[in-house]
Amino acid sequence: MTHYLNFINGQWCDSHTHISVINPATAQEYSTIASASVDDANNAMLAARQCISRGLLSDVRPAVRTTWMLDAAKAIKEIADEGALALCRENGKTLADAKDEFLEAARYFEYYGGMADKLEGTSIPLGKNYIDFTQYIPMGVSVQIVPWNFPVSICARSLAPALAAGNAVVIKSPEISPVGMVYLVRALESVGFPRGAINLLCGKGSVVGSHLVEHNDVNQIVFTGSVPTGQRILKGAAERATPSVMELGGKSAAIVLKDAATEKVISSVQTGIFFNAGQVCSAMSRLLVDKARYEEIKSAVVTMAENLVIGSGEEQADLTPVVSQAQQISVLAMIEQAKKEGATILCGGYAPDLAGYYVAPTVIEATPDMSISQQEVFGPVLVIMPFEDEQQAVKIANGTEFGLVAGVFGEALNQTLQVAQQLRGGQVFINEWFAGGIETPFGGVGLSGFGREKGQEAIYSYMQTRNIAIRL
Ligand code: NAD
Repeated sequence: MTHYLNFINGQWCDSHTHISVINPATAQEYSTIASASVDDANNAMLAARQCISRGLLSDVRPAVRTTWMLDAAKAIKEIADEGALALCRENGKTLADAKDEFLEAARYFEYYGGMADKLEGTSIPLGKNYIDFTQYIPMGVSVQIVPWNFPVSICARSLAPALAAGNAVVIKSPEISPVGMVYLVRALESVGFPRGAINLLCGKGSVVGSHLVEHNDVNQIVFTGSVPTGQRILKGAAERATPSVMELGGKSAAIVLKDAATEKVISSVQTGIFFNAGQVCSAMSRLLVDKARYEEIKSAVVTMAENLVIGSGEEQADLTPVVSQAQQISVLAMIEQAKKEGATILCGGYAPDLAGYYVAPTVIEATPDMSISQQEVFGPVLVIMPFEDEQQAVKIANGTEFGLVAGVFGEALNQTLQVAQQLRGGQVFINEWFAGGIETPFGGVGLSGFGREKGQEAIYSYMQTRNIAIRL
């Protein structure tokens, strides 16, 4: 069994206590990792601060950062197979999806590497006797807290733009599924980033995470995770007025209009809610169907769900385990609560008799006000319900506290666009769930958070604007 370490100031460091990493497909221990202490967190923050104060990232020609970033992308691709196997075993996801995470991570480094030398300010005309211009400067030390569902790609999503803009980063990996990120940082270690630019700590959120976000040296917090943790962090951030990006949960709805193409809906439902065992912040967790098509779509969704092959990520199954026993218990408890409130379980709703932490693909018929229609489950559980007309569909879709993504299925473009523009959320998919990419801005409104990741827009979250006004 391999024991993994934390990365502080350019060195791999052990700790007095360890965290056990469990393979959710077997419920057996897979590896251990050093659990960072508060002292480790202080050392990482000091290393990042020194990297900033010595200008090791910000004083070089931006083209040098571009070179480091592009070299990093290559190095990540080289370790993708090895890293994917570790990520598959610690997280439960399929080998193919684990490899995609590494390839996506490489893409973030290519994409933001290409931007590093194009972060140009503007010149502002103020009349004959003045010259005025703006500069984009790094925030400084960026503390980034990462969740377990896509640890490698979410880590790269924030790390790459932060480095491109010249920030030093202290990353807190999740207690569950921290190993893939070790492979990611090993790849980055092999290229030219200066010491202290990248630090990786695995440790308890309530100890190391909370210490980092409240540290005197933090200039920015980037948090991806649950709503309660995000709210707790924001309260502390308010004390110091620390700029923050919050990528939180979701309860996203797809609206199926009368003329929707059945095959597009069904394939999107499969990826929308059963990919990664439904542990996706932007999962399609609610399906709202025009009453004229309701029985037909409901039956096709249930048939698809019942035919999914359940198994481990190494077997490339259609539906893999959820990440932990706690997650399995939480998902099953929410299904039980739905039953108590009068919802109908159309399929699934139980834990299959397998060694790992599985939940059968579940489709539940529920009303908009039930808890299963309002709360994020973070598992392979779809809620389905009919609607009378578009107005009602939009009201139901927008009727939760979240607003991350949404979707519309229909062949008449005018009508689908009109519905899309009424939906609350940072991104709306038409006729294909997850149709966006790393190039398209992503983020939420309401309890789904604020700030945008991905796309050109995201890099502005990692810089501050300085204006220089000169009287000639
Ligand atoms: P979580 O909030 O339990 O943990 C997220 C991270 O926060 C972990 O690294 C954890 O150790 C750390 N943490 C916990 N307490 C902390 C504290 N007091 N201070 C600082 N850090 C602390 O979330 P999770 O269970 O790992 O992830 C699932 C949640 O993340 C879901 O709600 C999901 O929707 C959300 N998520 C959102 C996005 C997005 O981009 N919007 C992406 C992925 C996941």
